[in-house]
Amino acid sequence: MFVDTHAHLYGKQFDGDREAMVQRALDAGVTKLLLPNIDHDSIAGMHALVEAYPQLCVPMMGLHPCHVGEDFSEALTEVEHLLRTRSYCAVGEIGIDLYWDRTFLAQQEEAFRQQVRWAKELGLPIAIHCRQSFAETIAIVEAENDSTLRGVFHCFTGTAEEAQRIIALGDLYLGIGGVITYPKGGLAETMATVGPDHCVLETDAPYLAPVPFRGKRNESAYIPLIAAKLAEVTGRSVEEIARITTANANTLFATAPSLAAKS
Ligand SMILES: [Zn+2]
Repeated sequence: MFVDTHAHLYGKQFDGDREAMVQRALDAGVTKLLLPNIDHDSIAGMHALVEAYPQLCVPMMGLHPCHVGEDFSEALTEVEHLLRTRSYCAVGEIGIDLYWDRTFLAQQEEAFRQQVRWAKELGLPIAIHCRQSFAETIAIVEAENDSTLRGVFHCFTGTAEEAQRIIALGDLYLGIGGVITYPKGGLAETMATVGPDHCVLETDAPYLAPVPFRGKRNESAYIPLIAAKLAEVTGRSVEEIARITTANANTLFATAPSLAAKS
């Protein structure tokens, strides 16, 4: 049994075959689908999917760094209101993205820090989006790290040194996705060194499909392909990878009882 810890299955890319896609995930042994939020426009669709599959889909709430601009206060007010009134398994996805440009770095840092503090206050883990921004992101995570902080660096693609720095924080995990199957991605070599003990599995569907579906739409049914590659490079069995990563996901994303009581 597997958990897909990061999948945007409410996206319009799945409007034509969502039910069949969910069934394929179940058939592949993926029994939990965690849905990270993006911005205001993704909230209604995400909640609708959770309502349709309450035993299978679990939502997160947060504002994605690519949607943090000059003025993000209204968007964050909505995120905070929802976090305090509904049940979520994490604050996410949140973080810093400098891939396109650095114009709103200060705003991204402020929005990230604020959402990390809400997560700590509410006893929730964080799902971190970190793209071309490891130094900026880890600086905030290390500054905010205490016994209440836990989370995952979603779509981890860094070096072994960066992995060790994340693991050293205590309750921070590495989200491993389709990139591990890319021949020139470098992640297979990194994970051969790091090992699977601090990993959770994710697709980031509809993006970053693993080989042999690279370049096509990704979906949660491809999680076993990612597990098989992680097993191959770390010298473990697929069963062992399933057991380790599912246990990690359950530990990390167990819905906070304080919030569950409110919903
Ligand atoms: Zn994502």
